[in-house]
Amino acid sequence: MALVNIDQVHKYYGDLHVLKGVDLKINAGEVVSIIGRSGSGKSTLLRCMNGLEAYQEGAIIVDNKEVSSDEKQVRLLARSVGMVFQSFNLFPHLTVGENIMLAPKLVLKLSSKEARELALDKLTKVGLAEKIDEYPDCLSGGQQQRVAIARALAMSPKVLLCDEITSALDPELVGEVLRVLEQLAADGMTLILVTHEMNFARDVGDRVVFMHQGKVWESGPAKAVFAQPSTPELQSFISAVL
Ligand code: ADP
Ligand code: MG
Repeated sequence: MALVNIDQVHKYYGDLHVLKGVDLKINAGEVVSIIGRSGSGKSTLLRCMNGLEAYQEGAIIVDNKEVSSDEKQVRLLARSVGMVFQSFNLFPHLTVGENIMLAPKLVLKLSSKEARELALDKLTKVGLAEKIDEYPDCLSGGQQQRVAIARALAMSPKVLLCDEITSALDPELVGEVLRVLEQLAADGMTLILVTHEMNFARDVGDRVVFMHQGKVWESGPAKAVFAQPSTPELQSFISAVL
């Protein structure tokens, strides 16, 4: 069975039908880029995969466990699905280390010493070990986003979801975050990235999924999808963004 199985998922916000039968399977170790116009349902799909939003029909199964927005399930899920957001969401009153240690202490019941060692290990992975006792405000946006990635990694997720994590960054800071993702991909991490970085999607991603009007409109190997989009909707999207 694939690591992530999304089967005929429908999601409504009131009367608004946002996901209209999404099917998607993602294997362990795959790097999948989700692209598509604003409003096509990309963020909603990630939020459903993480249990942050309920869906009304179909099933999402991650690591053999069905995702539901039931509170207990969400806590369980937090161990297998990590998520990084556009806006970092670090706690400003906690140091970098404390931000990372929070969930391992609360959820995994690690001691302060164990949690700090874990934080240091993950910070080393993103190249920021020396920032462990700084406050987020003292870091650049790119560094804060790398801390947010380290925080997600501290829970040893089976899959890491990233929702436009470079979109809020100044252009000169995008590269350092993409390099961290590239390293994670090389290490075998399963990554699902909603991204506007088309070069990254094409060159680092294994697969590209194009969402349109709440559906997976087209998907395939990254290079092939960009070289030969088969639907007019993807053709026009690619010519608009490349
Ligand atoms: P994308 O990430 O592809 O831009 P979203 O998943 O954010 O798209 O949004 C898909 C649709 O759902 C849009 O029409 C958006 O306005 C709507 N939507 C998103 N979040 C909410 C919400 N919390 N309440 C109501 N409608 C929402
Ligand atoms: Mg979005």
